[in-house]
Amino acid sequence: VNPIFGKSGTSIFESMSRLALETGSINLGQGFPEGFEPRELIDAAVEALQNGPHQYPPMMGLPALRKAVADNAKRFLGLDIDWQSEVLVTSGATEALTDTFLALLDQGDEVIVFEPVYDAYATLIRRAGGKVVPVRLAPPHWELPREALTKAITAKTRLIVINTPMNPIGKIFDPEELRFLADLAIEHDLVIVADEVYEHLVFDARPFHSLFAVKGIRDRVVRIGSAGKSFSVTGWKVGYITASADLLQPIARAHQYVTFTTPPALQAAVAVGLNLPDEYFLGLRKTLATRRDLLVKGLRDAGFEVADVPATYFAVANVAPLDPEGDDLAFSRRLTLEAGVTPVPVSSFYGDRDVKSHVRFCFAKKEETIISAVARLRRWR
Ligand code: PMP
Ligand code: GLN
Repeated sequence: VNPIFGKSGTSIFESMSRLALETGSINLGQGFPEGFEPRELIDAAVEALQNGPHQYPPMMGLPALRKAVADNAKRFLGLDIDWQSEVLVTSGATEALTDTFLALLDQGDEVIVFEPVYDAYATLIRRAGGKVVPVRLAPPHWELPREALTKAITAKTRLIVINTPMNPIGKIFDPEELRFLADLAIEHDLVIVADEVYEHLVFDARPFHSLFAVKGIRDRVVRIGSAGKSFSVTGWKVGYITASADLLQPIARAHQYVTFTTPPALQAAVAVGLNLPDEYFLGLRKTLATRRDLLVKGLRDAGFEVADVPATYFAVANVAPLDPEGDDLAFSRRLTLEAGVTPVPVSSFYGDRDVKSHVRFCFAKKEETIISAVARLRRWR
C-alpha cells in the first residue's frame, strides 16, 4: 500500500456518512444537496441516455459542454474563453485537481494551500511528488495572511491553490486579495490553481470574483468548476477546467491517462444546465439562502455559536462552549449518537488536525430535514 494513501485513512466525509446511516442520524456532514437538481438537466440526461451516443466522446469533452462552460463564464463573470483550446472536461473537480497536480508538479516542488483546506488537496499533491506548505487563515474574518503567505514562498514553490468560495468557511476572496495573489504569482513565476466549484453558491447579492478575471494573471490560472455543485448532482462527477492553451495542454495529457473521458450523456445534460437562464442560478442562490437562514437560526437557538455564511452550502459552528473534551471529532460522533444529527469535524481540514473547536453542517437540504435536525438539537441541549 502506498503510504501516502494508507496514512490518510478513510475520508471523514465517508466515515461520518457511514455512521449517520448506521445510526439513523440526519446527515448534515458530507456536502451533498437534497432535491435541488433542475428538471431540465435530468430530462436532458434521460434523453441523451436513450438516444446515445454511448461511446468515448472527444478527450477534451463534448463540444457542446466546452462551449457552455465558456458561455456561462462569459455571462456571469465576463470572461473571454476560447472553448476549443481553453476548456477541458473532467470526471469531477477531483479529477481536475488530480490531472493538474500530476501535470504541473515535479518531485519536491512546493505547493501552498490555505487552511482550513479541502481534504483531497494535500494527499493528491503529495502523491504527485509535491510538498504541501500550509498557510493558515484565522477566524473570525479569515483574511488572506499576506505576510505569512509571502514568507512561505521559496525557490521551490511552484503552485498556490485557492478555493473561492471556500469550503468549509464560506469565504469569498475579495478583489484586493486576488490582486495580491496575482502579483505574487507574477513576481515568483507561479501558477495558481483556483478551485471555484462553489462559484454559483453566493448569497445576499454578493458578487463572486474569479481569479481568472484578474488583470495580467490569466495565463497562470487553472480555474476549476463542478456540475456537482452548480446543479446539485454530486454523484454525477462532471467537472471542467479553464486555462490558457499552453497551461491546459499538459493537464489534458494527464487527463488522457487518468480517465480519458466522462460519460457523454452527463456531459450533454450539464451543457443544458450551464445554458439555463439566469433565473435558475438566482433561484438556487435564493433557495439555499433560505435554508441557510433556517439552519443558522436553529443552531443559534440551540446554543451553537455560528458564523455568518456568505457562500457555499456549509455553516461552521464553534462548539468549544458545548464540548468539554475539546475534540471536534469526538463531539461529531457524540452529536450523531446522542442527538441524531451528524456534522463533520473541521479538524479534518487541517494537516495537523490540531484545530478542534469547530464542526461543519451542510444546509443544502429540504426544509423539513433542517427543521427536524434543529428540533433534535434543541431537545438534545
Ligand atoms: N473542491 C472542493 C472545495 C469541494 O468541496 C469539492 C466537493 N466535493 C470538490 C473539489 C470535488 O468536487 P467533485 O465532486 O466535482 O469532484
Ligand atoms: N466536498 C464534499 C464536502 O466537503 C465531500 C466530498 C467527498 O465526500 N469526498 O462535504
